[in-house]
Amino acid sequence: MKIEQLHRLFLTCSAACTDTRKIKKNTMFFALKGENFDGNAYAEKALESGAKYTIIDNPKYDILNETILVENVLETLQHLAAFHRMYLKIPIIALTGSNGKTTTKELINATLSQKYRTTATIGNLNNHIGVPLTLLSMTEDAEIGIVEMGANHLEEIKFLCKIARPDYGYITNFGKAHLEGFGSVKGVIKGKSELYDFLIRRNKTIFINGNDSIQVEKTKNSNVFSFGTTSKSHVQIEFVEAQPNVKVKYKSLSIQSHLIGEYNYTNIAVAIAIAHYFEVDAVAIKTAIEDYTSNNNRSQVLKKESNTVVLDAYNANPTSMHAALLNFNNLKSTVKTAILGDMFELGEEAEKEHQSVVDLIRVLNFDTTFLIGKNFYKTEANSKNIIQYESFDDFKKDFSFSKIENTSILIKGSRGMALERVLDL
Ligand code: ATP
Ligand code: MG
Repeated sequence: MKIEQLHRLFLTCSAACTDTRKIKKNTMFFALKGENFDGNAYAEKALESGAKYTIIDNPKYDILNETILVENVLETLQHLAAFHRMYLKIPIIALTGSNGKTTTKELINATLSQKYRTTATIGNLNNHIGVPLTLLSMTEDAEIGIVEMGANHLEEIKFLCKIARPDYGYITNFGKAHLEGFGSVKGVIKGKSELYDFLIRRNKTIFINGNDSIQVEKTKNSNVFSFGTTSKSHVQIEFVEAQPNVKVKYKSLSIQSHLIGEYNYTNIAVAIAIAHYFEVDAVAIKTAIEDYTSNNNRSQVLKKESNTVVLDAYNANPTSMHAALLNFNNLKSTVKTAILGDMFELGEEAEKEHQSVVDLIRVLNFDTTFLIGKNFYKTEANSKNIIQYESFDDFKKDFSFSKIENTSILIKGSRGMALERVLDL
């Protein structure tokens, strides 16, 4: 079937879907293959659950009128998304970077939606499946699309750009994330810069942090719109303070966010800058930032009996771990405990990077640090204030909130460590 034809059918559907458990009425179901499953086997079930059409690539299941047999379901999903994107003709803002993409995407969506009908990536759907699904979730009444793009190896952003064809882009930062796939920080810079390459070649506009020398250098002689703390930037956004939450100044307005951590300054600033660029009213921008609260275990502050918990258990890599530790160290509090879990996907750098975190902790003034996981267990801590556990189960035997009081507690680790489990202890 030609992609135009498939697109016509798609327009009669309510959405695209790849998960049989989440099928809603009238959706177009894409029977993808995973490591342990073959979506083709669910073709019939998808239709029974309400799907209008099911796209399959195994002729064995092509038994009903509503099943559409294609060569490759994943490629069809990607082609259809690219076609739909061209059909919509709306400006698309793409975001990538090592840390802060989802937070920034949500902040940009918050500020722009004060004036425009926006559609943004839902949650963290930022890969070769998530980006197509995001594009297909955009309907004809959307005025601006905001697309998060994740990558753990070279050429991935280039590929996602070909599908989403962004008109604007922003890279949150170049950090030590996914070193396993990129090889080095140099590789990370090259990989994320594929977004710049795409935009520069087409004379599109790049939003940059004017205070970041790599971003400035990488985009010189191209169309940029910069934000920063100095008058050299197109829009000035002053960093006021990060304690207890990040506060900035834009025009003459003081904007008090609910976000913790100095690193959220750039996340907030770019959301203000993009809204400024798209001529959103300054007071509306202030309201959007002030009303935004994070969820999903990212930079959340919770009370647990007499203790204050800084829950950042969503994910961790060396850059975000160092930033979180330094931020926690600045917190005005008498007693501090850090509970940290292993950082994954570091490849050969794992040992060095875990040791580097431990070395940092040794110079910071936490009262106690609990390190959990096989990688942290192997580090040399040599301090009675640093306690190492090989597994969460071992830690669980020792720790309970009932044993501590009036303490500030930082919880951070890679997604796979699921350290939000600490809250149940
Ligand atoms: P993922 O790769 O999982 O999609 P992401 O890039 O979308 O992650 P977020 O989910 O927004 O990032 O934030 C994850 C964590 O990264 C935060 O909880 C925080 O610790 C850290 N972080 C957020 N923004 C920054 C930043 N600008 N610089 C460094 N670290 C940051
Ligand atoms: Mg994300």
